[in-house]
Amino acid sequence: MFFSFDGIDGTGKSTQMQLFADFLREAGHDVLTCRDPGGTILGERLREILLHKAEIPLSGRAEMLLYMASRAQLVEEVIRPAVEAGRVVVCDRFLLANVVYQGHAGGLDAEDLWQVGAVATAGTQPDLTFVLDMPVEAAVQRMNRQLDRMESRGQDFMERVRQGFLREAAGRPNIVVVDADRDIPTIQAEIRAIAESRWPTVAGVANQESQA
Ligand code: ADP
Repeated sequence: MFFSFDGIDGTGKSTQMQLFADFLREAGHDVLTCRDPGGTILGERLREILLHKAEIPLSGRAEMLLYMASRAQLVEEVIRPAVEAGRVVVCDRFLLANVVYQGHAGGLDAEDLWQVGAVATAGTQPDLTFVLDMPVEAAVQRMNRQLDRMESRGQDFMERVRQGFLREAAGRPNIVVVDADRDIPTIQAEIRAIAESRWPTVAGVANQESQA
């Protein structure tokens, strides 16, 4: 099984993803967490270029393809073997982020991005993506760490990103929007409930039997 977490920065992706991974481990699953871009030697190098090397001129399309290259390697080397081995993969961002940041907010065609993404990942997609959503201003206030390239693009850009996530989620049952403007345990409880409602085994074999 393959889950991803997405949304604008500051919505609590990392926090919720970690709690969800802990929950899955306690339920007896063999969990692998990863991040996109990153997660492989190539991916971490590309991540450095993409997020912290503002001095390297990068066109929108070149940038998009670097994200895709990182993701291609992550799928081939990490995600697909893990899923095939019966592990549960929980990934911080995935193709959807590319579609939204470079497409909806960055001006490339979102449909093109889905198509390039399908080639890069050979069709590997999360079974379920949680999009954490809250007003941009409130998310920015939560962020107390150094701004990276993406985060420094300003609130107009972030607003386009937020709206892009909402538009892509609409009509796609494998992308669920979660209200992130609440306290951490409440959000986590909703995430677990959504996952369990779709796959009862998420809560563990023992729980499933006791419900039967
Ligand atoms: P992201 O990965 O989306 O950028 P983080 O999980 O790193 O977000 O959280 C950003 C900051 O907001 C952290 O300081 C975190 O402790 C805090 N935070 C996360 N979730 C909440 C929440 N529901 N309410 C208040 N603060 C939160």
